[in-house]
Amino acid sequence: MRQRLFVVFAAILWFTSSAVCANVSKISILVRLDDPSQNTLSLEYTLHDVSSHTLTIAIPTWTPGWYQTMPFSQGLSDLQAEGERGERLSVQPVNHYSWRVETAGSQSVRLRYRVRAGDEGLGFFGVAMGAHHAFINGAAAFVYEMDSKKVPHEVRFQLPMGWQVATAMDFVAQSERRPFGDKDDTFVAPNYDELIDSPIQMGRFEVRDFRARGVPMRVVFASESGNILCNMERVATDFQRIAEAGIDLFGGAPFKRYLFLVHLSGRGFGGGLEHLNSTVLNVPDRRDLSINELAAHEYFHAWNVKRIRPRVLGPFDYTQPVRTKALWWCEGVTDYYASVLLVRAGLIADRAFWQDMEREMQTLENNPARERVSAEEASWNVWEGNGMGYGGLSYYNKGKVVGFLLDVYIRGVTGNRKSLDDVMRFLMERYAYPLPGFEEDGILQAINRVIARDVSDLYRRMVQSTEPLPYDEILPYAGFRLERRSTSTTYFGVTSAVDEIGRVIVQAVDSQSPAFLMGLRAGDMVMEIDEQPAENTRIEAVIARKKPGDPIKIAVRRSGRLVVMDGKVGGESCSTIRLVPVETPDEAVIRVREGLLRGTTRVSVGAR
Ligand SMILES: [Zn+2]
Repeated sequence: MRQRLFVVFAAILWFTSSAVCANVSKISILVRLDDPSQNTLSLEYTLHDVSSHTLTIAIPTWTPGWYQTMPFSQGLSDLQAEGERGERLSVQPVNHYSWRVETAGSQSVRLRYRVRAGDEGLGFFGVAMGAHHAFINGAAAFVYEMDSKKVPHEVRFQLPMGWQVATAMDFVAQSERRPFGDKDDTFVAPNYDELIDSPIQMGRFEVRDFRARGVPMRVVFASESGNILCNMERVATDFQRIAEAGIDLFGGAPFKRYLFLVHLSGRGFGGGLEHLNSTVLNVPDRRDLSINELAAHEYFHAWNVKRIRPRVLGPFDYTQPVRTKALWWCEGVTDYYASVLLVRAGLIADRAFWQDMEREMQTLENNPARERVSAEEASWNVWEGNGMGYGGLSYYNKGKVVGFLLDVYIRGVTGNRKSLDDVMRFLMERYAYPLPGFEEDGILQAINRVIARDVSDLYRRMVQSTEPLPYDEILPYAGFRLERRSTSTTYFGVTSAVDEIGRVIVQAVDSQSPAFLMGLRAGDMVMEIDEQPAENTRIEAVIARKKPGDPIKIAVRRSGRLVVMDGKVGGESCSTIRLVPVETPDEAVIRVREGLLRGTTRVSVGAR
């Protein structure tokens, strides 16, 4: 996700296949859209070889990639069930997201229900529909049988004349020449997780195909009006370079095909959402569309999050929030790699890469939440946060900076023999879906393993605590020094004057200003400031020598009484961060920089 998950499954249970313990052997789904103006989809399910007297049908309460509860059940209506002879079966609600169906011994059960297309624009988290387009994010539309998530699900379509279908799912008639299916195909997902992790675009849209290192890829451009301003060839060419940079980093692709669904709309949720073999990117259409960074982020998720993931992020529990402390890695480090892919693909200059890192550090250093919330806390509590982090700390921002520092550190201490790329590749080998995901300490263990040393203390400081990041320790490996310039503007909210005999009188106090909140009022005669006599010195002059947050103590005479007040100076401090390069970088520094920017290690650059 970019703009911008849990219950543990035992690995053994997961690998024991499906049909053995499931209530049905297979689920076939027909998606029917007769009239787009009705704004609803009809879904018809056939559950084959039913082996239970009751089935529990449910709709997810959240969608992978966005860690916030979603009211998907509200979009469903008219859920009905029939037995094999067409007899009506009892359907009773269990709670707000599930229903119990009594099968009465029927071998196959048919379900029918409707889904309202409630998403704005071209759609993102839910279902959207317009005269010439419709979109399904699986979690919002497809129900599942609670004990049968691991069985194959197949999908067919019945759509208006002239409509197409784009999804990254496998399909029955696929071939080398025909890597993507269309509306007459029967699509197949090996389980429910993969079904709903394959968003579906329907309608009339533009298509650009290419191959990246031999892997077929498709870009779909959908717009509400049918007019498209952006240069689609250019977008496809850029995506190809990004796609190749990703495959080169890992030495291969974990997918058979990859689909970029580009929604050119200024409406609805703006951003991108990652899926197993595809992504949805929603951006306003422009002639000079700026979408590469977003695309690189979501595409990198095909490895990091969709394959490399904490244990709770697949197989999924859709009934409740699932928690992990690793979202800083899932999102922030993915964001770091979005920049890495862009520079390795030649889509941004080296200088722009360093400036990007500078900007992220500056954002972090100017965010006071970094002193209250750690990267792990921001991850764990995201469900109570805003989907980007918690308590004001964005795990995108801190995770990106930490990812950058980890990469430089690993390259630095290993003489560029190892890098964060190696950690990624190690994680792919060890944990990639469908293998079980990593445990909560999995990232630390992977780094330790790859560089053969224990980085627990560094990891604790950067990821698990709110301690300042060790810039001065790490950046020199890449030949940089972090320069921090503070600029601050103070605010107190008082106007004072000195009278003819040197007394300081408060003339005016801004409402709700720091001066007002500590108790100063117009007419007060200032006796002392910070325990020094106040004669001949306006309050403003004292404030001018202070910084935001500094304490101030003022004693005044008011109606004949002495009043002593304590307060703080208001205002803002802002740090400007710059990465200052060393004048003459040595060979070790050049190796680290080149390694990072080009994806090389000493071993691959050198004498092999
Ligand atoms: Zn993301």
